[in-house]
Amino acid sequence: MPELPEVETIRRQLAPHLEGRRILAVEILDPRFTRPDPPDAVADGLAGRVVREVGRSGKYLVWRLDGDRFLLVHLRMTGALLFDPPTEPPHTRVRLTLDGGHRLVYDDPRRFGTGHLVDGEPAVRAYLGARLGVEPLTEEFTAAHLRDLASGRRAPVKSFILDQRRIAGVGNIYADEALHRAGIHPLRPAGSLRPVQLEALREAIEHALASGIDAKGATIDDFRHVDGARGSFQDRFRVHRRAGLPCPVCGTTITKLVVGGRGTYVCERCQRPPRRRRRES
Ligand SMILES: [Zn+2]
Repeated sequence: MPELPEVETIRRQLAPHLEGRRILAVEILDPRFTRPDPPDAVADGLAGRVVREVGRSGKYLVWRLDGDRFLLVHLRMTGALLFDPPTEPPHTRVRLTLDGGHRLVYDDPRRFGTGHLVDGEPAVRAYLGARLGVEPLTEEFTAAHLRDLASGRRAPVKSFILDQRRIAGVGNIYADEALHRAGIHPLRPAGSLRPVQLEALREAIEHALASGIDAKGATIDDFRHVDGARGSFQDRFRVHRRAGLPCPVCGTTITKLVVGGRGTYVCERCQRPPRRRRRES
C-alpha cells in the first residue's frame, strides 16, 4: 500500500504535469471510485477546471482546482495515476483528458482507491482533520507532541504509529523500519516509552520517511510512478520483509510476528521485547 513517501513521490511527479493544465473531459468507469457520490456528479464537477496545485496530506493527494474546488484522491492498496501511458492499463477506472493532448489514467486492480470532490478550504480541512493526525515531516511533529499522543496508551507502539488519526502517512513498511532504527520493540505499549525513546522514535520516523522519499518510494506489490517505473526503497529495508536474514546492525536473525493483524519484522536483539507485566490490572 502506498504510504507517505510513495504518495509524496507521486505528488512530486504529477505536479509539473498537472499544474496549470485544464481537465477537458472525465470518464469514471467504476462507480466505486467516487462512492457514495455518483460518478457523473464528480465527472461534471471536474470537467473544465484547471488544476492549480497538487498537494498532499497524509496519504491523500489534494488537487486544488480553480473555483476553490478540491479533488481528494486516496490510492489505498493498488491505485496508480499514470500520465500519458503508452497503452491502456488493464484496470483503468478513470480517464482524464487534459489540454495539450495529454491524458491521465487511474488504474487500480483491487479497486479500493477513492476520489472525492470537496468545495472550499474549510470543508477540506474538516474532511482531512477528521481523518488525519499530525504530519510527520513538519515542525509540529515534535517529541513533546508524540508524548502527548502516546500518554496513557496501552496499545502496542506499532499499532499506535499506524493510526492515521494520530500520525498521518505512516504505514506498515515505515513503521517497521522506524521502530528498528529507534531500537524499540513493536509490542511495547506506546505509553510506556521514556522521553528519550520518544525522541528516538520521532527522529526514526522522520528518517525512514525521508529515506523513502529519497528512494522514490518502495515497490513491493503494485506501487508505480506516474510513468510506470518502480521505487527502490525496498532495496534499503533494514527489517521489513527480511525474516530469516541478518539484522544489518547486529547480525541477529530477523523474525516476523503479527502486531494488530499486520506482519511485523523485528530484530529482537536491537529491539528488546517488553517485559511481561508482573500484575495484570
Ligand atoms: Zn539487530
